[in-house]
Amino acid sequence: MNSDDFRSIKQLLSKPKKIVIVTHRNPDGDAYGSSLALYHYLLKLDHQVTVVSPNDCPDFLKWLPSQDKIVIFENEVKAASKILDEADIIFTLDFNALHRVGTMMQKALEKVSPIFIMIDHHQQPDGFAEYTYVDPKVCSTCQMLYQFMDKLEQLALIDKDIATCLYTGILTDTGSFRFSSTTSLTHRIVAHLMDEGANHAEIYNQIHDVNTYNRLQLLGRALDNMKVISEYHTAYIILSQRELSRFNYKKGDTEGFVNYALSLKNVIFAVIFIEDKKQGIVKISFRSVGDFSVNEFSRKHFNGGGHINAAGGRSEDSLKGTVSEFLNILPLYKEELIESNEK
Ligand code: 5GP
Ligand code: MN
Repeated sequence: MNSDDFRSIKQLLSKPKKIVIVTHRNPDGDAYGSSLALYHYLLKLDHQVTVVSPNDCPDFLKWLPSQDKIVIFENEVKAASKILDEADIIFTLDFNALHRVGTMMQKALEKVSPIFIMIDHHQQPDGFAEYTYVDPKVCSTCQMLYQFMDKLEQLALIDKDIATCLYTGILTDTGSFRFSSTTSLTHRIVAHLMDEGANHAEIYNQIHDVNTYNRLQLLGRALDNMKVISEYHTAYIILSQRELSRFNYKKGDTEGFVNYALSLKNVIFAVIFIEDKKQGIVKISFRSVGDFSVNEFSRKHFNGGGHINAAGGRSEDSLKGTVSEFLNILPLYKEELIESNEK
């Protein structure tokens, strides 16, 4: 986006509008952090603002300021569709293809014709928005949103709530500032957010120190199930619906499990396969270190995408069938994996 685009958006936002903010299905810290930060920011500019999320978030995000104001599309299809219908502007945050909101909400979004503004950090955005502000090198949508506010010369509007929401998304999408997407600019932004009232210790506790006994037991099972294929520098974990149910699986419980596989010495490619009988799919998370692109791997073979080092995908085959397909594909990448491990 160029400076003319930012000028047009600033102009557009200079008078009160009906604005809706939408984010992707199964929202994470960056999705809800950016949506709620933008919500508080636009309220300060006197707009009428609603956040519509396709489905609910995990419990560890339920404390975010005004989280309780979010309209959950799948719980209130009629009311939420009406809100989308009446919007002058729809911001889409933390996703780059409409199908990421789920089939039902995608249909609702395809019917309406407001001005779409996309703010995101995933690779290869679809062209559905009038304004697309995307940089795949940036660690999080929350950092993109901070830069967006900066371009609109409105950083002074950042208060404790906005700072808290932005900090949360940056924290979660950088794996607590450890992923290579974290830059000195990220740290400068975070310093500013702390100055404006983001309480780093409290936010970290809210997100990470909320384990349940069942979740740790499920993690134990996941680690027990982990397989390593050393010649491909690859490790993977399988969790069946039976195992999930046995440990009373709640949304968000498997968050971060795949990183244990990636933390193994000499492993640069890690995968977790999670069976979801209700949706009739296997949800897959891919992670890598270095230049092996899981975005490309997932796009090509598992209907997904994301970033170079973190991507998601899905399969409609059985759990067994999905894993065996993966194991059949893997040899095609042997050289790439070995080369990437040597770098
Ligand atoms: P996760 O494995 O945590 O679900 O997702 C990792 C990254 O890939 C996230 O940035 C997420 O937005 C993205 N992602 C997850 N699933 C999909 C998918 O099905 N399609 C695309 N394009 N991106 C995905
Ligand atoms: Mn994100």
